Amino acid sequence: MRIHHLNCATMCPVGGKFFGCECMVCHCLLIETDAGLVLVDTGLGEGSVNGERPLPLGFRKIVRPKLDPAQTALAQVRDLGYSPDDVRHIVLTHLDLDHGGGLPDFPKAAVHVHAREKDAALGVTRAADKTRYLAQHWAHQPSWRTYEASGERWQGFDAVRQLDGLGPEILLIPLHGHSEGHCGVAVQTDQGWLLHAGDAYFHRAEIRPGQRAPAALKAFQRLLCPDNRARLHNQQRLRQLASEPTIEVICSHDPAEFEAVGGMVE
Ligand SMILES: [Zn+2]
Repeated sequence: MRIHHLNCATMCPVGGKFFGCECMVCHCLLIETDAGLVLVDTGLGEGSVNGERPLPLGFRKIVRPKLDPAQTALAQVRDLGYSPDDVRHIVLTHLDLDHGGGLPDFPKAAVHVHAREKDAALGVTRAADKTRYLAQHWAHQPSWRTYEASGERWQGFDAVRQLDGLGPEILLIPLHGHSEGHCGVAVQTDQGWLLHAGDAYFHRAEIRPGQRAPAALKAFQRLLCPDNRARLHNQQRLRQLASEPTIEVICSHDPAEFEAVGGMVE
C-alpha cells in the first residue's frame, strides 16, 4: 500500500499569525489499495477554484484560500498519472466545504461518511451550518455509504471496521464535536497506524506534550463546533494516542505536520 500526502488547498486566513501559522493546508491522503485509489478528504474542488461553484464570499474574504487549480485533488491525481475514475472510494472526515469540496470531481467514487454527518449536512438545520455545508458539493448525487460505529473498538475508540468495498486496513473512527458526525480515518501501514484526525484539532500542540496551542485558534474552534464537550474529550483521548510509538496522528490543517510527512507547503 502506498500513501500520497496531498495539500488540496492552501488557506491564509486573516490574522493567521494569531492562529500559529500564516497559512494552513488541507492535508488529504491518496491511498493506492487493492480496491483502487482511495481519497481521504478532497479539499477544495475544481469548481470552487475556477468559480463554477463559487465559495461563499465570507469564506473567501476571511479564510482566503489560494484557489490554485494545481492544488485540487483532481489535478494531483492526474499529475500522478491516474484518471479521476481510478479514484473508486472517498472516505471523508466530514462534509465541510474544505473537505468535501472536491466530491463533484470524482462522480463515480463511492463516498463513505458517518451517517450523522450526512444527515447534518444534507438536512441543514442550524443557521451556522449553512455556510459550512454547500449542497452544490453533492448535487451530482454521489453513491453514499453511511455508517454508525459498530464492531470491535480500535485503540479504545469506537470504530467502523468494515467500509463497503474496502479492505480491513482503512477504518472510520468517530471523533464527533467539530461537526455532528466528524470522524478520523485510521490507515494501517507497514510502519503502524496512521490516524488522519481531520479537524478534531488544528494545531499539533493541541495533542502533543510541552507545546502550547495559540489561544485564538482554540477560541475559533470552539465557535465553529456544535459540541464543544465532545470535541475537547476527543482531543484528550488523541493526546494519549499520539504518545504511542506505533501510531502517527495528523490533522487536516497544520502545515508543520504536512511538511513532517514530506509535503511541501506552497
Ligand atoms: Zn477544515
